[in-house]
Amino acid sequence: MNLIDVHCHLTHEYFKDKLDAVLKRAEKAGLKAIIVSGVNPPANREVLALAKKHPKLIKASLGIYPIDALGLAEAETGLPRQTEKINLEEEFKFIEKNKDAVHCIGEVGMDFHWAYKEKTYAQQAENFRKIIRFALRIKKPLVIHSRKAEEECLQILEEEIKNHEIPVIQHCFSGRKSLMSKGVELGHYFSIPPCIIKSSNFQTLVKKVPLTQLLTETDSPWLSPYQEQMNEPAFVTESIKQIALVKELSEEAVADQIWKNYQKIFGK
Ligand SMILES: [Zn+2]
Repeated sequence: MNLIDVHCHLTHEYFKDKLDAVLKRAEKAGLKAIIVSGVNPPANREVLALAKKHPKLIKASLGIYPIDALGLAEAETGLPRQTEKINLEEEFKFIEKNKDAVHCIGEVGMDFHWAYKEKTYAQQAENFRKIIRFALRIKKPLVIHSRKAEEECLQILEEEIKNHEIPVIQHCFSGRKSLMSKGVELGHYFSIPPCIIKSSNFQTLVKKVPLTQLLTETDSPWLSPYQEQMNEPAFVTESIKQIALVKELSEEAVADQIWKNYQKIFGK
């Protein structure tokens, strides 16, 4: 089986002394591509360096996390902290300069869990629109973070991307059923983390979304399927197993189609 993790954070400090073992386990599990995601300028530079070091397995996704964009990152996450507003134009220049080494743009979007909607909607929406227009200009897929902002993100994506010019991947989508349907209609992809084994919401998502629009991710080191262990790319096997159960298909059939989806999006 060819497996993929389209969204994780292997530059997280948790992986510092474990990365070789983690990558070995990933390859053993069948992973052929691991897309490591950045969230702010320093994290993006770490992601690029890591992808350069492991060109076969690791791909770079450079992002501007909505909370980091506002300079509001107040909690310790294990990733570089961004305590000032991000200069979007500067970061766009950096990403464009490294365009050939960049697989996709993410994670980007909006978040009304860590920031008050009433206070930050206008700024978050403006930033998100700028980022979408940038991705359209350099023709890269988008990976969307939409915590407590699913409806708002879908609306803006619908307004900004009129003709499926670039693929959109909804990472860990937690919107209600009607919003799942809207994303499917817009042609978005939905990446499913291994914690689906204990999440009825993700199981419903898998039921609603055609297999041709599903992907797998881990969001490592977060969202582990196991209480006693941090998440890592090898655990996408749990996503595959659970998708196979929900769709009543073999694991091979699920993995094959998801691999095809990945190739369709990234053309490689
Ligand atoms: Zn993430």
